[in-house]
Amino acid sequence: MPFQLPQELASTPTPFYFYDLALLDRTLAALAAAARPGGYQVHYALKANSNLPILERIRAAGLGADCVSGGEVQRALDAGFAPGHVVFAGVGKSDASVNLALAADIFCFNAESVQELEVLGELAGAQGRRARVALRINPNVDALTHPHITTGLEANKFGISLQDLPAVIDKLATLPHVELVGLHAHIGSQITELPVFGELSRRLNELQTWLEDRGHRLPHLNVGGGLGINYQQPDTEPIPDFAAYFGTFDRHLVRRPGQQVHVELGRAVVAQCGTLLSRVLYVKESQQTRFAILDAGMTELIRPALYGSHHHIQNLSSQLPAQPYDVVGPICESSDTFGRAVLLPETRRGDLVAIRSAGAYGEVMSSAYNLRDKAEAVYR
Ligand SMILES: *Cc1c(COP(=O)(O)O)cnc(C)c1O
Repeated sequence: MPFQLPQELASTPTPFYFYDLALLDRTLAALAAAARPGGYQVHYALKANSNLPILERIRAAGLGADCVSGGEVQRALDAGFAPGHVVFAGVGKSDASVNLALAADIFCFNAESVQELEVLGELAGAQGRRARVALRINPNVDALTHPHITTGLEANKFGISLQDLPAVIDKLATLPHVELVGLHAHIGSQITELPVFGELSRRLNELQTWLEDRGHRLPHLNVGGGLGINYQQPDTEPIPDFAAYFGTFDRHLVRRPGQQVHVELGRAVVAQCGTLLSRVLYVKESQQTRFAILDAGMTELIRPALYGSHHHIQNLSSQLPAQPYDVVGPICESSDTFGRAVLLPETRRGDLVAIRSAGAYGEVMSSAYNLRDKAEAVYR
């Protein structure tokens, strides 16, 4: 069914974010059902959307939290996630954020360099604790997604490169306050080619054998996140195919008896439940182009400007014959464009427009550029 705004929200000031919590709940139920047979532990990546009403539902569904800053660790704790279900990744963790996470006794740090391991050991020692770490390796696997959201190639800043692994293992032997509990990889986002996860699994299998040959048994493997969603047709696929996703790991990842496998999903959990609503301020025609100028812009949803990403756009007010529009925002940047030559029913000032699949990496990336007010979030 195409998107419909609940009647009582028709006069909400635009732009605003609408979150369909019933769809979020159905998504979480589908995720739990798909993860259960293989015993996968799912951590939700807070950076996709960290609004408390959303986090509370995700926590209630039994997911853990995957954080990439001290602010996110604190937010996860505030939302009631148990510290034992919080992991902390990130290529540049500040000392203050590491200390916060150590004091909270989170489950695990995903460590990305030799120097980070040294600092973790030092700060943990100063607190009289041991830091549990998983080594975030850079497996040099191409995620076949947009270059800006590819993270597992040699050229990316993330993770420990394979040739550095021997030095990292030597270093660990000198750090009494650091305990190796697993391997971690996260190769990118909006991944729709599932065989990519098979390739990641094979790489992890090799590394696990290599580590075991050197006396390291790993209780945990963390395969990261990145499962993509259908931005083109959100109504035909409102819930991602989680069964196919876990099935890929079932077939390719070799698990040791009792070993736990963690996944960290962000986008796939929350993207489809969020919609950005906006009104048309003006329709302007030039020689070649007809512009629909919205009251929402890149300050509310930056993905199209940042990665040229596609969002499905609907005019909820008009039933007239369709015409092509360049749908743009009011911000003083030419990249402030939601879509070019978008077919919309004839559009007029005041029409309500829905920009779909905006629940992930939407509101969290909003800014006050041009001194804009923060768009409100409403939940139903
Ligand atoms: C961003 C991120 C995720 C989540 O990625 P999605 O594509 O939203 O699933 C998982 N793990 C790490 C380390 C991340 O940085």
